[in-house]
Amino acid sequence: MNLIFLGPPGAGKGTVADLAKDALGIPHISSGQLFREQIKIGSPLGKRVEAILKAGNLVDDETTIEFVRERLGHPDVARGYILDGFPRTIAQAEALCAFSRPEAVINFTLSEERILRRLEGRRVAPSTGRNYHILYNPPKVAGFDDETGEALIQRPDDRKEAILNRLEVYLRETRPLIDHYMEKGLLLDLDASPSPREVLDQLLLLMREKGIH
Ligand code: AMP
Repeated sequence: MNLIFLGPPGAGKGTVADLAKDALGIPHISSGQLFREQIKIGSPLGKRVEAILKAGNLVDDETTIEFVRERLGHPDVARGYILDGFPRTIAQAEALCAFSRPEAVINFTLSEERILRRLEGRRVAPSTGRNYHILYNPPKVAGFDDETGEALIQRPDDRKEAILNRLEVYLRETRPLIDHYMEKGLLLDLDASPSPREVLDQLLLLMREKGIH
C-alpha cells in the first residue's frame, strides 16, 4: 500500500503516520525527519540544509527527490509506505510517479488557526521524531519522551517567524498538489481536527471503504 500524506505543516501528518505505520504494517517515511537526521549527524548534506530547514524554506527538488528515491529502495518498503512531507512541489510529484505508484493521497484538512496552535505547542523527541503537543497530546511526564525518556525539544522551525514562512511556502508550492492529485483521482480528504487516534480511525475506515489495502 503506497500512501502519501499531504497537508499543511501542523496538520498532524507525522503523528497520525506514526500510529498508522503500526496499524498498516508499512514504514513511515518523513522527508523532514530524514533531513533532521542528517543535520544531527553533521553530514555534508545535513550541513547544507540546516539553515534552509531552520528558516522553513524548501530544500531544492533535485536533492530531495534523490534522497527520497534512495530511501524508497530500502527493503522495508517492499509492502508499501506512508510518505509524509513528500512530494511538496509539482516537480517532486512528477518525479515520484516515475519511480513509484502512489495508490492514495490523503489530504489532511485543518483551519489556519488550529495549525498555528498545534505548531506552537508541538514538542519532539529528537532521536525518533516522535511528536507531542503540550496540551493536546502531552507526554506522560512533562518534557520527556514516553519511551526513551529523552528530553523533548521545540523544533527550530516551530518558532513564530518560521511557522508563518512555512505556511506561505505550503500555500505557494504544495497546495497546488491538491488539484494535481484530484485530477489523477487519487485524492481523499481527511478532517485532521480531532485527536490523532480519531483521525487514525477515520483513515482506516476510509481505506476500507475505498478498498485500499
Ligand atoms: P517537515 O518535517 O515535513 O515539516 O519538514 C521540515 C523541513 O524539511 C521543511 O520545512 C523543509 O525545509 C524540509 N523538507 C521536508 N520535506 C521536503 C520536501 N519534500 N521538499 C523540500 N524540502 C523538504
